[in-house]
Amino acid sequence: MSIKLNTGAEMPLTGFGVWKVAKSSCADTVINALKAGYRTFDCAADYGNCVQVGEGFKQAFESGLVKREDVFITSKLWNSYHDPEVVEKALDRILSDMQLEYLDLFLMHFPISFKYVPFEETYPSGFGTKSEIELADVPIIDTWRVMEKIYKAGKKVKAIGVSNFNGGLLTDLIKQAEVVPAALQIEHHPYLQQSQLVRFAQHKGVAITAYSSFGGNSYLELDNPAAKSSPNLLEHATITAIADKHGKTSAQVLLRWATQRNIAVIPKSNNPNRLKENLEFNDFNLTDEDFDAIRELERNLRFNDPKDWAGPNLCIF
Ligand code: NAD
Repeated sequence: MSIKLNTGAEMPLTGFGVWKVAKSSCADTVINALKAGYRTFDCAADYGNCVQVGEGFKQAFESGLVKREDVFITSKLWNSYHDPEVVEKALDRILSDMQLEYLDLFLMHFPISFKYVPFEETYPSGFGTKSEIELADVPIIDTWRVMEKIYKAGKKVKAIGVSNFNGGLLTDLIKQAEVVPAALQIEHHPYLQQSQLVRFAQHKGVAITAYSSFGGNSYLELDNPAAKSSPNLLEHATITAIADKHGKTSAQVLLRWATQRNIAVIPKSNNPNRLKENLEFNDFNLTDEDFDAIRELERNLRFNDPKDWAGPNLCIF
């Protein structure tokens, strides 16, 4: 099952995210995910494991496990590399680290521009080393223009898109863009349903990919206050009741809740059973009653909010 992008390409509905996959196990994790059947991988310069993810792909391609053209690979431009002079260099660094000739999808990670940090100093640069994040005055459209140029050149990226944009920013970008973003990647789970944004983007032909489909789970290890203080979605009575009714797991209900509405998912797991569980869930349908019950879980609860790492210095939601 896949979503047809506005470029004509097909993006599989179920993928694998590599955020926080340890460098030491990353190549093996990628190979195991490919063996389990995953054909879409969500990566980013900021995840700091491009080299190891790329090593996994290289081994998989060389051993004949899969061909490059059978895998859909996404990566993202980090906030420190929005300067028009730097965008293509940052993409080249991703491609060379991953030993790839092209990405299937290149996303702007956030609608936020940090001050440039030279690669030789720190790479990836994360949030910098200062107590307060240093911003740069680069308008989003200036960064997008370079992404458009790279896309139009037709070699290094097959599609371009954005992540963590709200409706206003997406509207503004679409108005000015020569190339409408092919995809928007957002935090999306029953506690943060973003229904209007999803409807708007899909109406404009922008494919949605959901991240953190299981809610706050992956933020617990980051000591995220919202994740620590909210009930675990996978154990929520509404979700477990729906799961029991369909003979599925809570994780599968949360993933199907997205894909049934044509929203792609990119769950992450290192556990072989969960790898399988998170891939094999599109064989059942939630009912209208299930959707109604899940709609009630909306809390506008965001776990990945720049306010947690940038304080009052910036605001995008
Ligand atoms: P996720 O929703 O995939 O949750 C991962 C957590 O759930 C892990 O702790 C894992 O052990 C656990 N888990 C996985 N499968 C499970 C199962 N079947 N049953 C029970 N627990 C299970 O969250 P995520 O890592 O936040 O997001 C997935 C991917 O999305 C990331 O790897 C990354 O690629 C992407 N992402 C993008 C952004 C962005 O800003 N664009 C932000 C966060 C994540």
